[in-house]
Amino acid sequence: MPADPAQPVATLNPLPPPYIGRFAPSPTGPLHFGSLVAALASWLDARAAGGRWLLRMEDLDRPRCVAGAADTILRQLEACGLQWDGAVAVQSERDDAYAAALDALIARGLAYPCACTRAQLAQAPRNAEGEIVYPGTCRNGLPAGAGARAWRLRVPPGTVAFHDRIHGNLRQNVAREVGDFIVRRADGLFAYQLAVVVDDAWQGVSHVVRGADLLWNTPRQMVLQTLLGLATPAYAHVPLVTNAAGQKLSKQTLAPALPLTACSTVLAQALAALGHSPPAGLAGAAPAELLAWASGQWQIERVPVHSTIAKPSP
Ligand SMILES: [Zn+2]
Repeated sequence: MPADPAQPVATLNPLPPPYIGRFAPSPTGPLHFGSLVAALASWLDARAAGGRWLLRMEDLDRPRCVAGAADTILRQLEACGLQWDGAVAVQSERDDAYAAALDALIARGLAYPCACTRAQLAQAPRNAEGEIVYPGTCRNGLPAGAGARAWRLRVPPGTVAFHDRIHGNLRQNVAREVGDFIVRRADGLFAYQLAVVVDDAWQGVSHVVRGADLLWNTPRQMVLQTLLGLATPAYAHVPLVTNAAGQKLSKQTLAPALPLTACSTVLAQALAALGHSPPAGLAGAAPAELLAWASGQWQIERVPVHSTIAKPSP
């Protein structure tokens, strides 16, 4: 009997999906050493896998964005030799996509309006991260006379288990430890959680490598991926860099901006923070040479779990 041409005669092993990584800074100021560590880890992981590395400006929170910061970030990445692929995605141009995702959730009863003010929630319990656990006040309808302010996701009960490539197997009961979280804010802006999930799917991101401050955002993003029918990327959260006082480097702790020239020293320091100290023979090497060496050496297993790294003195 002749083979049915519609039926494959043998099952070929499917090719693994292409590696697509991304770096997604907020243009609220220039990059500092801590953001370089996250960018470098993401870039190395993509390049070592022969993958693409996309850039996305997370300028969703318009009031916090600083004019010119996005351009400064691009120049800083270029100075460090971290070249991205393709056009830079910009979240402030993506409201239609976020609105469509929210509408899809609302249509299925998975998002609901919330009238609670910050003051009303001030006494609500907090989780281990210090975040308010939403007590569900508006879950079954707005209180009489109250107007909708924000939109919240109706988080299904149960535990979200996930594997982080650096932290190992983790789990969180999002419904209990976070509660119904905001997907559209009272000021009308779409919430970070919704935008990042929609954009990672839109850009085809297969691997997220980012700072450990976002580790406990992952389960709620996975809840959104599940409810929106989107794929979940692989996750890795690199350690945060702290200053001499043990504070996370940030604009709030006055972390100095990365230089736009002579990046070799900070790049070598960032590699050390990621468990990949360059050999003495590469002291003073140009960024391109350091990156070529590091791409060949990169093993995410060597990245330390804990944020015990203080930025070395310049
Ligand atoms: Zn409420």
